[in-house]
Amino acid sequence: MIIGVPTEIYPGERRVALTPPVLPMLTKAGFEIVVEAGAGLDAGYPDAHYQEKGAKLVADRASVFAQAEIVVQVLCHGANDKNGASDLSLMHRGQVLIGFLRPLAAAEAVQQLAHTGVTAFSVELMPRTTRAQSMDALSSMATVAGYKAVLMVASTLPRMFPMMTTAAGTIAPSRVLVIGAGVAGLQAIATSRRLGAVVFGYDVRPAAKEQVQSLGARFVELPLETQGAEDARGYAKAQDEAFYAKQRELLGRVVAESDAVITTAVVPGKKAPVLVTAEMVRGMATGSVVLDLAAERGGNCELTRPGETYVEHGVTIIGKINLAADVPYHASQMYARNLTAFLTNLVKDGKVRPPESDDIIRETLLTQDGEVANTRVRELLGLPALVAQV
Ligand code: NAD
Repeated sequence: MIIGVPTEIYPGERRVALTPPVLPMLTKAGFEIVVEAGAGLDAGYPDAHYQEKGAKLVADRASVFAQAEIVVQVLCHGANDKNGASDLSLMHRGQVLIGFLRPLAAAEAVQQLAHTGVTAFSVELMPRTTRAQSMDALSSMATVAGYKAVLMVASTLPRMFPMMTTAAGTIAPSRVLVIGAGVAGLQAIATSRRLGAVVFGYDVRPAAKEQVQSLGARFVELPLETQGAEDARGYAKAQDEAFYAKQRELLGRVVAESDAVITTAVVPGKKAPVLVTAEMVRGMATGSVVLDLAAERGGNCELTRPGETYVEHGVTIIGKINLAADVPYHASQMYARNLTAFLTNLVKDGKVRPPESDDIIRETLLTQDGEVANTRVRELLGLPALVAQV
């Protein structure tokens, strides 16, 4: 089976779906690899390294799609809401497409993909089970984004992170508040701690407390009823507006005392809750920074403008999206590992295994045989349930 790797085309995207070091694992499993010339260059992987590992280089994107039985991408149409649709005319019936597809937020794009007849697998739908852990691209990219967020904050803040005792006096450490202690938040906490800041972590899920504390940060306790805050899969559940209002009120003081706030609070399939209001930002000291990792999902800060950085009330609001693309070498390395684990589970003896045979294949399957295969996306599109639901 031939796997094709096109160059990423989303503006500013520097990652690549497969890196040279994973190619021997794939060729050993029986795959051939076709790479668009220059696909890995921005991530630090030159063409020659792909060739050394047995890949065939092709000159243009159309040739990759024409030759490949499986196309792997980072941002496919849907997740790439800028120019991803240009790939639709290159796809052919029965071709497999794997990557970020943003299934719950871009249902119309999923429908368009279904019409091309491709069999699409969305890495966002990966079950969070032990067996699927090595394929969990969401966690990989959240790890990179959490790390990069701290570096951006540290370089924007007019202060240093660590406490320092110098001949010119003692410098107080910066105070960093991380709201949302999932994968990205915990990485932001760990990175802020390594840089020497005093770090506070907060999450609505009670289970997060121990994880925050184990990283040397202090957990912010708010007198809120959080018993039902976590679903069976370990994700936060959506709360009502009264809950969020109370949360904002209680968080206000902690935000005001922070030099930097990094927010990562999201609820799967929902718009991100607003947890930092304009008034709370006004309460922060001049020069403070808010970085909103939920910007792409609507933002946790009322003032966030997705994709923009600007100053309001003397506070820098960073709404940068797609942060993982700014650490393209390691983000690609992790993503390529995730895809390799997924591909070697998906294809056995030169054939794509049927979804019935495996929960990972079944849950990630998004489109097949001209239909949207995922139940939740069908509901969003107002489509009737498939008779033989996969
Ligand atoms: P996520 O990206 O969906 O959300 C980020 C964080 O925001 C979560 O911790 C969530 O609880 C928090 N949040 C949501 N609403 C909030 C609010 N109103 N106030 C404060 N915080 C709020 O989460 P994620 O990073 O994908 O991880 C979710 C959970 O899944 C975590 O427990 C994580 O450890 C777990 N996980 C498990 C596996 C696995 O078992 N394979 C893999 C990855 C993550």
